[in-house]
Amino acid sequence: MKLAEFRPALDAWLTEHAGELTPTEPGLDAAMAHLSTVKRLAYDAGWMRWGWPERVGGLGGSPLLRGYLGEALTARGFVEPGIYSLTEVLAPTMIDFAAPELAAEMVPKLLRGDETWCQGFSEPSTGSNLASLTCRAVATDTGWRVNGQKVWTSLAQYAQRCVLLTRTGPPESANSTDKHRGITALFVDMDSPGIMVRPIETMHGAPEFCEVFFDDVDVPVSRTLGAEGQGWAVAMDLLPYERSTALWHRGAFLHKRLDDLVREAPDGRLSARDVGAVLEQIYAFRARSRTTLHRLDAGEQLGAETSLDKALLGLAEQSLFDLVEATLSDEVAFGDSPTDAEWRSEFLYSRAATIYGGSAEIQRNIIAKRLLDLGAEA
Ligand SMILES: Cc1cc2nc3c(=O)[nH]c(=O)nc-3n(C[C@H](O)[C@H](O)[C@H](O)COP(=O)(O)OP(=O)(O)OC[C@H]3O[C@@H](n4cnc5c(N)ncnc54)[C@H](O)[C@@H]3O)c2cc1C
Repeated sequence: MKLAEFRPALDAWLTEHAGELTPTEPGLDAAMAHLSTVKRLAYDAGWMRWGWPERVGGLGGSPLLRGYLGEALTARGFVEPGIYSLTEVLAPTMIDFAAPELAAEMVPKLLRGDETWCQGFSEPSTGSNLASLTCRAVATDTGWRVNGQKVWTSLAQYAQRCVLLTRTGPPESANSTDKHRGITALFVDMDSPGIMVRPIETMHGAPEFCEVFFDDVDVPVSRTLGAEGQGWAVAMDLLPYERSTALWHRGAFLHKRLDDLVREAPDGRLSARDVGAVLEQIYAFRARSRTTLHRLDAGEQLGAETSLDKALLGLAEQSLFDLVEATLSDEVAFGDSPTDAEWRSEFLYSRAATIYGGSAEIQRNIIAKRLLDLGAEA
C-alpha cells in the first residue's frame, strides 16, 4: 500500500475506533496495558503490520507507513511516544541481526503488543562511552553465561525480552583501544533465572527505567544477535533507528502539545513570537527527520548523520516545555496541583531529551568529528 492510500484509510479507522484507542487511566501501568491494547487492535486490523517485512509477520511496504502510524497515534493522544518508541528502536535491528527463524518468531509478538522488549546497553560506569561496557558473557557448552549490571533500562520491569550488549572478549579490552571488539549482542528472556529488575523512580514521577542485574544467567547460543564479537555493529545499527522513526513520532507529539498549549494558555500569556520560535524548532527537527525517513524508505543505511536529528529534537523538546513552564502557572514545574500533572510530568521529562538516546554533547561531538571532520578533541 502507498502512503497516499494508507493515510486516509488509517485516519478513518482511527476515528471509527477512537473510543477503544483513547486511554482512560493515568499512570505507567495503565499506559503500558493500554499500549498493548492499541498495538493488538492495530496489528489485527493490519495497520501495525504495514512497513515491516513479510518474513516477520509484516505486510511489506515502505517504512513511511510505520512513520505515519506512530505519528497518527501520538498526535491523537492514543499512545505516549516514549513507550511506543521501543518497537521502532528494537525491531529493525532484530530483523537485521537475529537468525531469520528467531526474528520470524519474536518480532510479531512485539508488533502485536503481546510482548514488551527492553534495551540493555548503558551500565553504571558506561553511558556515553558505550564501548567500555563490562557486563560479561562467558561461553558455555550451550551458549553464554552472563554476569553484570545494566542501568537506565527503559521499561525493563514490563519486558519479556532484552537486547543486551555484553563483553565476550578479554576483560582488559574494555579499557583498551580495542574496546569495540569483543562485544557480543544477545537476545535474553527476562524470566531467565538470575535476572533481577529494580525500577528507578524518576523525577517526573513514573518508574520508567530500571537497574537490571545478571547473576549467572544462561542464554542459549541461538540467541546471539549477529556473530560473536559483532555487538558493536549491532549497536551501531540500532542507534540510528533510535534516531529515525522513533524521533519522528516524538516530533508529532511535540507539535500536538504546542497546539494544546496555545489552546490552554490564559489570555495574554503567550505571544505569537514565542509560539513562532518554538514552532520553528519543531519544524527544523521535522524537516530533518522527514529527510531521514525518506532515506530509510530509499533503503539507505542510516548512520552518524542521525545525530543531527537527535540534537534538533532535544532543542525542540526543551524549548517547548520551557515555554509551557513560562506560560502556564508556576505550579507546572514544581507544584503538586493535580490539574497540572500532565504538563508537569512532560516538563520534567523534557529535561532528559538531551540525555536519552545519546546526550546532546555526544551528538555534537559526532557531528563535529564525523560529519564536519573537525578533528579530535583538544
Ligand atoms: C529517559 C531515559 C531513558 C533511557 N533508556 C535507556 C535504555 O532503555 N537503555 C539503555 O541502555 N540506556 C538508556 N538510557 C541511558 C542513556 O543512553 C544514557 O543516559 C546516555 O547515553 C548518557 O550516559 P550516562 O547517563 O552514563 O552519562 P555520562 O556518559 O556519564 O555523561 C555525563 C555527562 O558528561 C557528558 N559527556 C560524557 N562524555 C563526553 C565527551 N566525550 N565529550 C563531551 N561531553 C561528554 C555527557 O554529555 C553528559 O552530559 C536512558 C536515559 C534516559 C534519560
